[in-house]
Amino acid sequence: MGSLKDFKKVVIKIGSSSLTHQSGLLDLWKMESLVKQIANLYNSGKDIVIVSSGAIAAGMGKMKFVGKPKTIPEKQAAAAVGQGTLMYMYEKLFSEYGITVAQVLLTKEDMYQDIRREHSINAFSALIKHRIIPIVNENDVVAIDEIKVGDNDTLSAEVCKMIGFENLTILSDIEGVYNKDPRKHKDAYMINEIKNISELDEIDAGDAGSNVGTGGMQTKLKAAQIIAEAKGTMLIVNSGHHEVLNELLNGRKCGTFFDFRD
Ligand code: GLU
Repeated sequence: MGSLKDFKKVVIKIGSSSLTHQSGLLDLWKMESLVKQIANLYNSGKDIVIVSSGAIAAGMGKMKFVGKPKTIPEKQAAAAVGQGTLMYMYEKLFSEYGITVAQVLLTKEDMYQDIRREHSINAFSALIKHRIIPIVNENDVVAIDEIKVGDNDTLSAEVCKMIGFENLTILSDIEGVYNKDPRKHKDAYMINEIKNISELDEIDAGDAGSNVGTGGMQTKLKAAQIIAEAKGTMLIVNSGHHEVLNELLNGRKCGTFFDFRD
């Protein structure tokens, strides 16, 4: 288990299921609560970067799709509609607390090609210097399946590593990491802390998650590997818990904490 008390630079990954209803329409109650808590983390002096999913889900809600779009052009269209909806809500909610946000849409090359990586880092540095909260997503309108990162667990870990932040907090619809899928195995137990990359091999990650997101445990463990390469820390917590970020700020420990610092 871990808390956020001691970290100054934190990337917060918000999954689609933490933001939307099953239909894909935004869950305004959940979103308002998360924004308020993140605004409070920011007010406590932390540098915050958000990686937010939910573009395709929000687009799918607005376009009245039933279930996830199946073809690539439909996904692209849903992302184009939903990304605007998502940013509009973030702008509106954060502005109530006097906080400016910025949209940062990345593709794989922006993180893996040297020159473009440098430009990406420069953009983040300038935003953070000006106390703006970057809200990152993959550019799903142009990054199609074959050439994309594909899930925001991996994307958020890559961003955290690229900009050298100390902690990645993944908000999810699960309590933390279990040794095996707790929905299928009654004897599954939650792991409070992981300090060594080899411990990841012991975990049976099962299959991918919900109707709206793309991530499951597999992508979270991949994210952990990237954070391990960066010698950073990562937390997986349940966003459904009342004021979970606020509790973490106050030093309460919950979820699974990955600590790969030397
Ligand atoms: N980039 C996708 C979106 O915003 C989400 C990817 C994911 O669920 O991890 O809809």
